[in-house]
Amino acid sequence: MADKFVGTPRKATTHVNQNEDLIFEKSSAGKKGYRLAQLDVPAVDAASLLGDSVRTDDLGVMPELSEIEIIRHFTRLSTWNYAIDLGMYPLGSCTMKYNPRINETVARIEGLAEAHPYQPESLSQGALGIMKLLSECLIEITGMDTITLQPAAGAQGEFTGILMVRAYHEAKGNARKKIIIPDSAHGTNPATAAICGYQVANLKSNALGMVDLDELERMVDEDVAALMLTNPSTIGVFEKDIHKIADILHAKGALLYMDGANMNALCGKTRPGDFGVDVMHLNLHKTFSTPHGGGGPGSGPVACKKILEPFLPTPVVKTNADGSLGLEYNRPQSVGRVRAWYGNFGMFIRALAYILANGPDGLRQTTEDAVLNANYLRAKLDGTFELPYKSPSLHEVVFSDKLQAKNGVKTGDMGKRLIDYGFHAYTVSFPLVVAGAMMIEPTESESREELDLLVDALKQIAREAEENPELVQTAPHTTRIQRLDETTAARKPVLRWKGPVASTPLTPDSAAKEW
Ligand SMILES: *Cc1c(COP(=O)(O)O)cnc(C)c1O
Repeated sequence: MADKFVGTPRKATTHVNQNEDLIFEKSSAGKKGYRLAQLDVPAVDAASLLGDSVRTDDLGVMPELSEIEIIRHFTRLSTWNYAIDLGMYPLGSCTMKYNPRINETVARIEGLAEAHPYQPESLSQGALGIMKLLSECLIEITGMDTITLQPAAGAQGEFTGILMVRAYHEAKGNARKKIIIPDSAHGTNPATAAICGYQVANLKSNALGMVDLDELERMVDEDVAALMLTNPSTIGVFEKDIHKIADILHAKGALLYMDGANMNALCGKTRPGDFGVDVMHLNLHKTFSTPHGGGGPGSGPVACKKILEPFLPTPVVKTNADGSLGLEYNRPQSVGRVRAWYGNFGMFIRALAYILANGPDGLRQTTEDAVLNANYLRAKLDGTFELPYKSPSLHEVVFSDKLQAKNGVKTGDMGKRLIDYGFHAYTVSFPLVVAGAMMIEPTESESREELDLLVDALKQIAREAEENPELVQTAPHTTRIQRLDETTAARKPVLRWKGPVASTPLTPDSAAKEW
């Protein structure tokens, strides 16, 4: 594999070995991983028993293997799943930090792991206490007045928050028509506004990548329900005029929604509630270290000011007259329930374990280390890659592929080439305000040694882009499946195996044709 690298081979590991056949290729007729006991009742005909429920579509032929072969196959496949436990995950905007094992230990305590959501409140005091304490911690961290833990992800938090904004304006007699969203916003923001029935008014950023105050002043009128602002923005820049932004909105009765997915840059340093934000979501699966890979489950609590409290989803945790905890359902102005039960409770435990293990000084240190790491990468890679915005970075840094694009090498090519060096790709082509964006968020989890490995790899890739562009353009080379036709994969996805019978072994080429 050394010949696939230009220059001196690196000493870093490539984290995975993908030398594994398809399960269909491993099959041989008659092998089984099970043996059923002799029937001691009369046999029934499944088809006549199930009627219309019998599956008639073509299942093809199932692979036939022994138990150990199946276990080995899937254990090997499981190691292909790139994870934070294998190596750095520099995806920007995603805060792919380490998930401390203490979180997992606490989440597995029997009384918590096996609590049933229908348990009477009197037997759920511990669980309710966790929800209350986590709520109090998050309220303290954000500087807001109240919170719901119910939403299951950041995007659902946005949806909940904007439903509350809508209910607030409706209660005053007019839901208003528009939501202003800067052009640097995460794609979920305009989607949220649209799904809550608002028109999206696009606000252009200024040359520093920040909100243009004059433009904002011109746009805000009595039809504007809110501004949805990511702070720090997706280019990792803090909106220094955030107070003025809040004032401009409030003067016209509009609210300030903050997309708080990037709280890893603010935690312990500054509080949105103190700089004019009315409502915001947090991503526990980003900032507060709950697992994030593999699709979750996530957790996107929404914190807000007193004025929005009546509209919080139900139920809300309350303290009874006798000091015990309970759930309050009777809230006539509530936007209703947004998630089954009370939200992803297992994530609450993990986030609370993380917050308590760190304490206020630890959380502040986390923020400082995350910002330091991003700025370290910025300093090391400035010049190797173009840095489109000169404003100081917080927790993430956005480069562009401008220098490499001259040789026909694009951000996506270099992202795929990083796979050959044993890293997950950075965030490619986002944010949209930067052409050819390369967005990197190291988080506080990475040591200087790991950051240096990433720097080495990226510098080496930049050198390859000069000397041998085709090598980068055709990457990855060390994976089992190489460059895919992404357009066809997106337009004509094949979602069900229609492969040949097991007796005709597959080669990678014939498998590709069969799909
Ligand atoms: C991740 C992210 C979201 C969406 O959060 P999900 O939990 O993935 O739904 C929204 N906004 C920003 C800025 C984000 O980084």
